[in-house]
Amino acid sequence: MSTQWDAIIIGGGAAGLFCAGVAGQLNKRILVLDHAEVLGEKIRISGGGRCNFTNQHSSPANFLSLNPHFVKSALARYPAKDFIKLVQSYGIAYHEKHQGQLFCDHSAQDIIQMLFAECTKGKVEIRNPVSVLSIAQESGSWVVNTSTGLEKSKAVVMATGGLPVPAIGATAYALDIAKQFNLNVVEPRPGLVPLSFTADSFHHLNELAGLSLPVRISSGSKGDRYGACRFQEDLLLTHKGLSGPAVLQASNYWTEGEGIHIDWLGSVEVAGGFNCDALFNDEENRLKTAETILASVLPQRLAKAFAEQKNVLGRKWAEVSKKDRHALKELITNWSVKPAGTLGWKKAEVMLGGVDTKELDGQTMMAKSHPGLYFIGECVDVTGHLGGHNFQWAWASGFACAQAV
Ligand SMILES: Cc1cc2nc3c(=O)[nH]c(=O)nc-3n(C[C@H](O)[C@H](O)[C@H](O)COP(=O)(O)OP(=O)(O)OC[C@H]3O[C@@H](n4cnc5c(N)ncnc54)[C@H](O)[C@@H]3O)c2cc1C
Repeated sequence: MSTQWDAIIIGGGAAGLFCAGVAGQLNKRILVLDHAEVLGEKIRISGGGRCNFTNQHSSPANFLSLNPHFVKSALARYPAKDFIKLVQSYGIAYHEKHQGQLFCDHSAQDIIQMLFAECTKGKVEIRNPVSVLSIAQESGSWVVNTSTGLEKSKAVVMATGGLPVPAIGATAYALDIAKQFNLNVVEPRPGLVPLSFTADSFHHLNELAGLSLPVRISSGSKGDRYGACRFQEDLLLTHKGLSGPAVLQASNYWTEGEGIHIDWLGSVEVAGGFNCDALFNDEENRLKTAETILASVLPQRLAKAFAEQKNVLGRKWAEVSKKDRHALKELITNWSVKPAGTLGWKKAEVMLGGVDTKELDGQTMMAKSHPGLYFIGECVDVTGHLGGHNFQWAWASGFACAQAV
């Protein structure tokens, strides 16, 4: 058996590399093992190749977990501003895109190189591709059996991420190890994922593919795993249904069989203090057609499609019955549609569920029942909203663990 390590980190992605660099610089002897040919692949493809590496406004409210309080300690000890300082210290150019989301100006590769540089500073040893065959606890040490031999360590950190994008090496290994040590795992399911729709739930909007507009979207309910949500985001109409940030956010809270609800006027109301009732009851609108009235607050094509759907296309407002006006109002402020499913792990950005936080110490990420065994990053039942929060969790949980190992 070779060197005794302070910690062996399994998985050299966002959380694993960051944790390794921090712990290494605290003079810990750190070995990172990864089965992939190339490390940091999820970082490379993130944010459309520009990596939305954190969110300036990241707070516990941006995370889903069976225990929403679990993230508080780690996020408080390593907030977004600390990662931003690190990025600045490497001279990496970045910009804010939307609601505090920070992206690299050039490429996600900048973040990957920074993480490697931090590991080099901490004299971290990185080995890949290496297969991890088994992990066992033997007389106070952890023994990791790999395709290149046995390694012994004081601690093992599971940082193998979640199940999305199997094509680039995602596995359930962290969850398998959790189960091996009798830790509860919250059933994983795809998150931040496009939803699919049956043709008939959507037929009247099919011709509008390509249209994008800000809406208010809500999904889930109080009794669901992660409760209910309401977001104001951009919605994209596609040939297959609905997509864009609004749907990705809603997907985290959506349960099969339930509907999602869209207020197409969300942004209008917020922007101008818009009052739907006033528009619908205004005497001056009597002689205008239904679609003209709708088009004053909606894109013209959408206004026409809604008027058509309620059989009032071309009709003067004065001729539209109270009942039909009410139906139109419902349609544009509380449109309900039942997704048929999600596009699954291939298209998901994150995994919901994972190692149950009640098994872990929120200060250190260590399994309470197995001293020396840690879980960080996406494999834990902590999922961020869209917008850089998932990387912020990888950094914060990696930092907490690095202080402890
Ligand atoms: C397309 C896409 C875009 C995204 N964009 C963003 C974004 O812009 N902003 C954001 O905040 N989040 C984004 N995310 C989510 C983000 O990438 C993840 O939340 C983050 O990478 C999780 O970090 P991690 O270290 O836990 O896992 P990963 O970064 O996935 O790292 C896991 C590592 O473990 C290795 N591994 C897996 N199984 C084994 C095994 N059995 N043995 C050894 N090694 C193993 C893998 O090879 C990998 O290197 C995106 C995700 C996707 C899929």
